[in-house]
Amino acid sequence: MVLTAATAGIVKKILGFFLPGGLVFITALLCIQRGLVDPWLTHIEKFAPYLILGVGFLLGWRFHRSRLAFVILLLTLADRILYYFGPGGVTGFQSGKEVFQATAILLPVNLALFYLVKERGIFNLQGLMKLLFILAQPLAVYLLLLKQPQIMRYLSYNFINHPLLDKGNLPQAILFTYAAAILLFMIGSLVSPKPIVRGFFWSLLATAAALHGMNGVPGAAIFFSVAGFIIILSVIETAYAMAYHDELTGLPARRSLNTTMQSLGRHFTIAMLDIDFFKKFNDRYGHDVGDQVLCLVASHISRVGGGGKPFRYGGEEFTVVFPGKSKKEVIPHLENLRESIARAKFGLRGKNRPKKRPNKRTKTTSPKTVSVTISIGAAEPGPHYNKPAEVIKAADKALYRAKKKGRNCVAT
Ligand code: GH3
Ligand code: MG
Ligand code: MG
Repeated sequence: MVLTAATAGIVKKILGFFLPGGLVFITALLCIQRGLVDPWLTHIEKFAPYLILGVGFLLGWRFHRSRLAFVILLLTLADRILYYFGPGGVTGFQSGKEVFQATAILLPVNLALFYLVKERGIFNLQGLMKLLFILAQPLAVYLLLLKQPQIMRYLSYNFINHPLLDKGNLPQAILFTYAAAILLFMIGSLVSPKPIVRGFFWSLLATAAALHGMNGVPGAAIFFSVAGFIIILSVIETAYAMAYHDELTGLPARRSLNTTMQSLGRHFTIAMLDIDFFKKFNDRYGHDVGDQVLCLVASHISRVGGGGKPFRYGGEEFTVVFPGKSKKEVIPHLENLRESIARAKFGLRGKNRPKKRPNKRTKTTSPKTVSVTISIGAAEPGPHYNKPAEVIKAADKALYRAKKKGRNCVAT
């Protein structure tokens, strides 16, 4: 049982990493490689880059996501530069190979930089600086090609002599910058698995496919559009996550609870959980430590057994919904959860440890670990009420009884 829950967790994480960016990328790759879109390829290539640029800018502006707007601009610029001035480009530009190499190195570097910089809006000084930074790069490459063409030769310099690295015909500088960017996004998605970093990762792979396409395989413009589309999707996903998830604890928020309540059948149990004396806790250790403990309590709640779905109800209150389960079935799981929280010694991160004692009467200073307890009230549909909203009210009353009984207990 434990194994299946753990396996399900791992499968969910892997799927989460692939969706939706990976799915879009792999679908596009298969469609183009198998020639499924061949009849429409030239038409799609004509309008897709501009459509993505327009949609990306509109969403970036409305959602206040400067990263989206600038990354889309970056991708469109790379696409159009290669289309006009790349190898075999429509203008017949003689340094097409160098343009390709410079673009292939600057793209991952820029994607990495735009991933690392903070959101600061579009229409302000910082937005202008970012715009200039993007536009200055093709200009710099053009000037270098014109005035110092020998410098451009370093782009195809072989840093390491190894047969494995010589196999492909891509210059090592391109391989290394791509590898570094991929590594950065992979580490980023492990440290903070947010939609945007997955978006950058799959978008980067789509640009790699686009550049590979420059060597004869068609669809480069489509892959650049796919890269932009993936970033757009990740921003939409972020907006969804912000609406349906609690930012502090990462648990589904009240809005998600309302959706879950609408889809409940006739049999279910709802538990309301509340941290005991949390106001005093905040007064003693400070609000930052309170926030940290709230997250740690939430992570315990997220591991509740019995198929319980956890939510942050608000403040220091949580809700766990057990679809298809009776009160009798879930009580052992709620007791286990209560005990596990009561037993836990929550380690505090150094930076958030209180620097001075917020309450003069308290002797404790800068504790390394703290503990809290929770009270739980549980209810199921009964003869007098059966709607989820009524069951929540009944669970809330049971919670009140748990507090009256002396806290750190489960009441029904
Ligand atoms: P009881 O055992 O009766 O529940 O006592 P209590 O102090 O926990 O209850 P009360 O409702 O009086 O206070 C809740 C406190 O929870 C008030 C507020 O300071 C704290 N709290 C609510 N939300 C947050 C939050 O997001 N972060 C932090 N640090 N504290 C919060
Ligand atoms: Mg409360
Ligand atoms: Mg409380």
